[in-house]
Amino acid sequence: MKYRTILLFGAPGAGKGTQGKILGTIPHFYHCACGDVFRNLTIDNELGRTFLEYSSRGELVPDEPTVRLWRENIVSHQQSGRFDPNRDILLLDGIPRNPNQAEMLNDTLEVKAIFYFTCPDMEKLVERLQRRALRDNRLDDANLEVIRTRLATYESDTKPVLDFYGPQLVHTIDATQSPVIVLQDILRIISKF
Ligand code: AMP
Repeated sequence: MKYRTILLFGAPGAGKGTQGKILGTIPHFYHCACGDVFRNLTIDNELGRTFLEYSSRGELVPDEPTVRLWRENIVSHQQSGRFDPNRDILLLDGIPRNPNQAEMLNDTLEVKAIFYFTCPDMEKLVERLQRRALRDNRLDDANLEVIRTRLATYESDTKPVLDFYGPQLVHTIDATQSPVIVLQDILRIISKF
């Protein structure tokens, strides 16, 4: 059975995590952020060390271990009853991160919609990432060069995921607005489903 899924899609710093956390508190929605799954690994774990190596450069972790880790994580949440695919819509944040991952997950995800958080002002994204670096203790957002690589990787590797799914699923959200207005826009769309 495929997971009914909404993709939270957009550049680092666009606000996907903020909105995902809020939406995940609504009954029958389940928020899963791939970056959080990686950050919960420890340094004595081999994949934890791989994650540190790639994320500290602002690069993506290779697809195969990423998708494997994500699958193990969601299955364990299913087994523990936190996520029930018969009941819940999966709000997926940070995966698939390139067309190959989308292909690998095609047998698992039934993507119902993509919320595309747009922020044309790169400097605003940089500013947001730097601000949260200290707040969330995120090394990858503390260094300007790493931030630039993260944003460039998003443009080159991640944006083509939109073409994989096609324009009919995409709902564009203006991520430059305040979080409460962004939330309002999202709820307006979700309530029509
Ligand atoms: P995020 O919190 O989504 O910005 O992710 C932080 C870092 O985790 C990224 O820069 C990547 O190094 C790694 N990462 C998270 N999700 C993925 C993914 N789906 N594929 C590859 N790397 C990922």
